[in-house]
Amino acid sequence: MALNFDSNPRELIDKFRLHLHRWYRKEHRRLPWRNRPDVYQTVVSEFMCQQTQITTVLPYFERWMISFPDFATLARASEEEVLKHWEGLGYYRRARYLHAVARKLNGMNPPRTAPEWAKLPGIGPYTAAAIASIAFGRAVACVDGNVVRILSRLAGVEQPFTNGGAAVKAFTPLADSLMDDDNPGTHNQAMMELGATVCLRKKPLCMLCPVQSFCRAGPGGYADRLPRIQRETTIKQEVDRVWIIRRGRLLLHRLPEESSRMARLHELPTAAEAGVAPTSLKQYPCKIRRRSITRYRITERIWFPPDNAKVTVPIKGTDACQWVPLDQVEAITLSGPHRRWVKEFLAERAAPTL
Ligand code: SF4
Repeated sequence: MALNFDSNPRELIDKFRLHLHRWYRKEHRRLPWRNRPDVYQTVVSEFMCQQTQITTVLPYFERWMISFPDFATLARASEEEVLKHWEGLGYYRRARYLHAVARKLNGMNPPRTAPEWAKLPGIGPYTAAAIASIAFGRAVACVDGNVVRILSRLAGVEQPFTNGGAAVKAFTPLADSLMDDDNPGTHNQAMMELGATVCLRKKPLCMLCPVQSFCRAGPGGYADRLPRIQRETTIKQEVDRVWIIRRGRLLLHRLPEESSRMARLHELPTAAEAGVAPTSLKQYPCKIRRRSITRYRITERIWFPPDNAKVTVPIKGTDACQWVPLDQVEAITLSGPHRRWVKEFLAERAAPTL
């Protein structure tokens, strides 16, 4: 019998949990923050795993725990150190919020309930529920895109939703009704694990699913059409950037304090930031790089005036545009794609020409 969007008999819910938890205990991935769960590791892993694949997070998590093993050490670290450890993981606001949480909690007993966690910087309802349930055994369901996907398929809900937030709101009562008050941390982690490893967005692995017998859409052959959430319209952007080296120093732009995503990180400057007219760049070699940030699809044209080209750039540098000696580029914090590009272009520059 499949789960229902509105209400379900008690025995059905008990059986569903039994199947799900038995599977989780046997099959879950052995992750470092699950070995010896504690509140700090749970908090760090929840911040790192937001919008990021676990395989990407693993080396960052391990390095982080060596440098910042607890809230107190993290609270004492400088923002520069924190951002450097986060470099390449993206969504840098998470690192700043995590740092701010450590500073707020320094010397205090961490809160135990989801509403208290949700008052701390950068912690939304999902993360608050995850921390309160995993670290403190509070019975509060985590509902994010993964859980919405599982629940919409289990209940076979074909109703469309205008956005992810509306879907989360609609499925929260069902998630709450499935919650196991005796094992809330295991239950939430089992749902997360099912979404990450079995009930995949494309091509769900229904034959391996521990709760297939409770599901409508999987056996019905329409799981990959659910949930029906309207896609956000994408926005295309084009940016001209410059790669300028003078006397062994690379011109980089430091993002300002008010930059919501990446305050104080460095990037290759745009033509405007470097004070170079884009029309004057057309004569130089150019490389195209594309990337996506949330709903933005960005085409970056990176122009390479030769070292002796007459381009007007801020010779002394400014607060925003700084000349960084090539042997110090590794030490400063660049955004992830710019670190890759800078490495690539410096390697090409160092390669002997045939
Ligand atoms: Fe998802 Fe398929 Fe399992 Fe249903 S049977 S919950 S669609 S993996």
